[in-house]
Amino acid sequence: MGLFDLLNKEDPEKKLYERILQECDQALALNEKDPDLWNKKCLVLRELGLRKDAIEAGEIAVQLAPNDPDVWDSLRLCYAGDWNKEKADECQKHVSDLLKQKKDAESQRLMQEGSGKECCRCGVYVRENIRCVSCGSYFCPDCYRDHQSMHSKPRIGISYHSNGLFSGYD
Ligand SMILES: [Zn+2]
Ligand SMILES: [Zn+2]
Repeated sequence: MGLFDLLNKEDPEKKLYERILQECDQALALNEKDPDLWNKKCLVLRELGLRKDAIEAGEIAVQLAPNDPDVWDSLRLCYAGDWNKEKADECQKHVSDLLKQKKDAESQRLMQEGSGKECCRCGVYVRENIRCVSCGSYFCPDCYRDHQSMHSKPRIGISYHSNGLFSGYD
């Protein structure tokens, strides 16, 4: 295959993304206020290397769905790298805050239902907590990860369903 053929060879991945982009635009023409479509468009434009356009689409997505951590994470990806660290960090903060809010809301709900298990470290209620085999304490998954670094040798944790039944090793 000569150089000319290589240059003319169509990139199947690029074709696919271009097709998805076209579908996004068609769907957006009917429903321009759908944050999921803008989010998808943002990710596809990024894959196509059109970062500036991707950021524009991502900014619209976060305006339409400011409480969705997923759309903030897509926008973060567009700003990541050497593009705009400040903006990427800002997006990351939104992602972390929203995930924390989600966790707190879930905790409240489980506590009221009486179906959750409390984390001994941060006090949130989770559906399944994890018992540390080194010290026997129960943790939410996030705290369990942090907690394991406290023991010199990481051990296997055992997780339980909220009804107390064994659910697997973590
Ligand atoms: Zn915790
Ligand atoms: Zn422990």
